[in-house]
Parts: sequence; C-alpha cells; structure tokens
Amino acid sequence: MSLDLDALYIDLHRNPELSFQEHRTAGVISATLDELGIEHTTGVGGTGVVAVLRGNADGPVVYLRADTDGLPVLEQTGLDYASTAHGLDPHGLDVPVMHACGHDMHVTCLLGALERLVAQRDEWAGTVVALFQPAEEFGAGARAMLDDGLLERFPRPDVVLGQHVTPLPAGIVGVRPGTQMAASDGITVTLHGRGGHGSRPHSTIDPIVMAAATVMRLQTVVSREVDPRDVAVVTVGAIHAGLKNNIIPAEATLELSLRYPTDELREHVLDSVTRIVNAEALASGATEAPTITTLHTLPATINDADATARTVAAFQRAFGDDQVVDPGMFTGSEDVSWFARDADVPLVYWFWGGTDQHAYAVAKAAGTLDSDIPTNHSAMFAPVMHPTIERGVDALVVAAREWLE
Ligand code: ZN
Ligand code: ZN
Repeated sequence: MSLDLDALYIDLHRNPELSFQEHRTAGVISATLDELGIEHTTGVGGTGVVAVLRGNADGPVVYLRADTDGLPVLEQTGLDYASTAHGLDPHGLDVPVMHACGHDMHVTCLLGALERLVAQRDEWAGTVVALFQPAEEFGAGARAMLDDGLLERFPRPDVVLGQHVTPLPAGIVGVRPGTQMAASDGITVTLHGRGGHGSRPHSTIDPIVMAAATVMRLQTVVSREVDPRDVAVVTVGAIHAGLKNNIIPAEATLELSLRYPTDELREHVLDSVTRIVNAEALASGATEAPTITTLHTLPATINDADATARTVAAFQRAFGDDQVVDPGMFTGSEDVSWFARDADVPLVYWFWGGTDQHAYAVAKAAGTLDSDIPTNHSAMFAPVMHPTIERGVDALVVAAREWLE
C-alpha cells in the first residue's frame, strides 16, 4: 500500500473549505489515517483531527502540525485542478474558496510523513502526535484544540514542529532561530459621528472625514514612532461607512492589522494607535470616544535557539547546506506557537519553497520577485507539486526523527 500524494493534494486543492468548516477535509484526513492504520480522534477543537503514532519504545513526544483551512479567494491560477468551490463566510455571505495559503500542501505532506514514519516504525522510539488544525486563518484553531483538552487528552509534547509552504524556490528550506514570524493583532475601530443630510454638513460630525484623517495619521506610527531598526506594520485593510452620496452616516469602521516582532513593540504600537484614534475623534469634535475591539491576537512565532540549531543541522545533513537558508523574519503571523507556549516546550517552525525554480530564477535576475512570483493569499498562488511534496514530506520526517532517534 502506498498513498498517492499527488491525487490527495489535487483532491484537497479542488475542495477547499473555510475556517472551522473543514468537514470534508477532516473526512479525507480521517480516511487516509484509517488506510495507514493510525489511531486518531476527529472533532478536536471543532474540525481538528489528532493522530497518535507510537514507535518501538517509549521516548520523546513530537507534535507535527499542519493547518487545514482555505481562504475566501477566487482562484485565478488557471490550473486544471483549480478550485471552483464556494462557501458561506461568517457574515453569511456566499464567497469563493481557495487554498490560497497552501494548507492543502501542509495536509498532504503531513500524511505523507506519517506514512513514512509508519514504515520506519522499527527504527524509532517515542510518540508522534499529528495535529491537523482547523482555522489557522482565523488565528483561532490552535486555541480551539487546546481549549478542547488537547494537552490532557493526548500525550504532551517535548517539542512542537511545523512547516509552511512559501514563495521560495521549490525544495529550499528556510528557517531561523528567534522570531520567525511577527505577532499580530486584528482590531476594529468604530468612529462615532453624527449623521445628517449631505447638504448640511455643519449640523453633523462627519465620520468619513474622521476616518480619512485617522487612516492618514496612522501611517506615522511606523514611519515616525518606531525605531527604523525595528520592524512593525500598521495596515488599514478595510473601511466601511455610508450608503449614499447625500447622506452623512453616523459611523465609520476601520479594520486594522498590526504586526510586530516583540511584546514591547506590540505595546508601543497599540498605545500609539489608540492615542491617534482617540485624538482624531477629538479633533473632529466627536462627542463619543471611538470603540476599539480586538478581533484576534497572535503571539510572535519564536523558534527555540537550541532546537532550531539541531533541526537546521539535520536539514543540512539530509538536503545539503545550500538547500537550507535563513529567510529572515516574516511579518505574517501564525497560531502554531500556542501549542508550544501552552505546553512550555520548544517550537521549530520552518518554511519551504513551492515556487517553480526556473520562474523564481528568472524573476530574481530581473528584479521582479515581488511582482512576478505570487505569494500566499494571492489568487495566483499555486505551489508546483514537485519537488514541493517530496521536500515537505522529507522535512517533517527528518525533523521528527531528530527527536525520535
Ligand atoms: Zn497559511
Ligand atoms: Zn494564510
């Protein structure tokens, strides 16, 4: 028996599901685990699946984590296995769904790695706990699994390992000690004005002008307040106000995405954002202070120095020194580190490339990597299947075996 990983990947890619709706995906995972004869539990943290695989003797417990959810993106890759799926988003809106972050690749590679570990069972001691985590894109799936008793119902980890496919050349592994991915907060700001007729602005407090001034002023947090040697991001990704040209609405809402590598900088940026939002409301004559609510909070993804050095050495031995790079810190965020933080054990989280090597080389030579190579969350994001699948499987097995030996 051997798994057809290409077919598995194509099936998952064609059938993406939104966060916390990964029912079919969990079914595919469960059926594949059955095929491999691996004991597992479904419905952990909603649509999560936990598989437990024991080696030939007691030993360390290694968590291997793959996230499973898709995104509300209309796929435009033109691939013959492109998704045409739809789903209902949390607002009840019918939206296209795509595996635009490559989580289908993560699931495929973790199942492939488990197959390999089953075959090698005589050679290793310890326990592998495979986490198929829902709702990474909500930043909520890891917490949901932990709240569902993950650490009590299953063996507690000695190390947490995970990986993410990214626009590096296919096969290249990118990992660094320390902050690998930024912390992030998603916040909603509701600006309260006073609505009225568009012809009588003097009788209103216009929240649209307030919002415009706030958005512009927020640009100074990073450019004027953060030490240029630090990294932070303040993005206003959504702005909602008004329905008609001659009505001044009573409210405007802004949705912000904030990123930082450390807890100290997080506090600084949050303070600055709060100060500016309140001050701009005051400057506009608002009589009610803005309402600020947190959508999600994600911790920085910090790779343990010793465990990362050990993993990098194992990767270099397995793949060659030139295949393992330091990709720098990513300003994206992840919820994988909750598993390690809650269990108080080291985390090693690496990236691996899924971009066609030739296309990458051409774009790099032309200086057009940013414009020509689609990134995660793009409607054009499509990892090449080979050697991405092979390297993703190998990386999980190599890293896991480093602890299971
Ligand atoms: Zn992702
Ligand atoms: Zn993503």
